[in-house]
Amino acid sequence: MDIFKSQESNVQCYANNFPVVFESAKGCWITGVDGKRYLDFLAGAGSLNYGHNNPTLKKALIEYIEKDGITHGLDMHTGAKARFLEVFKEHILAPRNLDYKLQFTGPTGTNAVEAAMKLARKVTGRPNIVSFTNGFHGCTYGALAVTGNHHHRGGGGMPVNNAVTRIPYDGYADVDGLTLFETMLNDASSGLTGGDKPAAVLLEVVQGEGGLNAASNEWLQRLESICREHGILMIVDDIQAGCGRTGTFFSFEPSGINPDIVTLSKSIGGYGLPMALVLLKPELDQWAPGEHNGTFRGNSHAFVTAAEAIETYWLDGQFQTHIQARADQLNKVLKDVLAKNGDLFDTIKGRGLMQGIACKNGDISDAITSLCFEHGMIIETAGPDDEVIKFFSPLTVSEAEMEKGLQIFVKSVEQYKKDKLKKAS
Ligand SMILES: *Cc1c(COP(=O)(O)O)cnc(C)c1O
Repeated sequence: MDIFKSQESNVQCYANNFPVVFESAKGCWITGVDGKRYLDFLAGAGSLNYGHNNPTLKKALIEYIEKDGITHGLDMHTGAKARFLEVFKEHILAPRNLDYKLQFTGPTGTNAVEAAMKLARKVTGRPNIVSFTNGFHGCTYGALAVTGNHHHRGGGGMPVNNAVTRIPYDGYADVDGLTLFETMLNDASSGLTGGDKPAAVLLEVVQGEGGLNAASNEWLQRLESICREHGILMIVDDIQAGCGRTGTFFSFEPSGINPDIVTLSKSIGGYGLPMALVLLKPELDQWAPGEHNGTFRGNSHAFVTAAEAIETYWLDGQFQTHIQARADQLNKVLKDVLAKNGDLFDTIKGRGLMQGIACKNGDISDAITSLCFEHGMIIETAGPDDEVIKFFSPLTVSEAEMEKGLQIFVKSVEQYKKDKLKKAS
């Protein structure tokens, strides 16, 4: 571990919670150099929805590399990109009646968010963007401006409020944020009209880092109708909640809303390879060539595994049924644990395989997740005080693996209670 201490910047963070050197991984399991296996309920923060080294995706990637397929092609036409575009159009967009063009940005989520905001500002000619309490959108300056998290914002080294108005998310402090928003849009002296009228609203449908807060369908529909009425674009950041995490490919599908712009990253590449894209309604495609540039726009290896993932998992409803079954299995245990431990937990958060349990405070979640790690499971927290324990298994998790993870969680809760009693006596 000394090499990490002496050579790697203090900015690394996950390693502080999981101080092990990892060597290999398969499916839901990750193995340390000492041979100890851990159940991975973090899954690359949602980048490994199809599991580590998914065999089908790996095979396609190895074949592509073996035949000297293009690895780096800037944004030129390649067969790998053509196949991804076709598969995405035919199996993801068309069946959902969605009509988007695709913009490939640099391969991180935050780059897609930057591009989405730039485009909304360019198309409307207005600078202001509305974002929501506890939203998380990435760590570059533009994306940080719409992010709520104080810890990340503190990394800015200067004020990061660039032309952003924040309003309460669904359920935030029981405030009706949308009535406030609508009233302000209709009040010429609210500071939110004329040239200050927002170009766009930017939101997560389930807030990943913000604590698994899920917006209701009604709230989303109402937000959409406010946007339509006032000529404001709607941007959904589906970087974490998309690619099946909530049970449908896009998180917004159950609400029936039709966002103008959607960002995807994390699991879109399928294999844990970096890839990010912006979906935009064709009439918004007002970019001039190269206006949002980048050397790594389009990762050919990720195109191969992204197309393969769609063809493996998204051709029919089977995978969605599987996700729902595992989500129900998880929900049942979380409900039971909540019912028995009202002193430790507040509520169940999120939906699909984007669920968690809110602890009374961040110390409880920290202690329980540390115990989970001791018992062989990697699991993280989210929320303003890191108080939500976040169950982020790969979506390909089997019934037995989910059961195993839940057993480790329940055992850790029991041990936490025992340790607390011991300390008190
Ligand atoms: C992770 C994430 C981002 C940022 O993606 P990076 O690849 O870390 O830059 C943006 N939005 C949401 C919702 C995310 O979860």
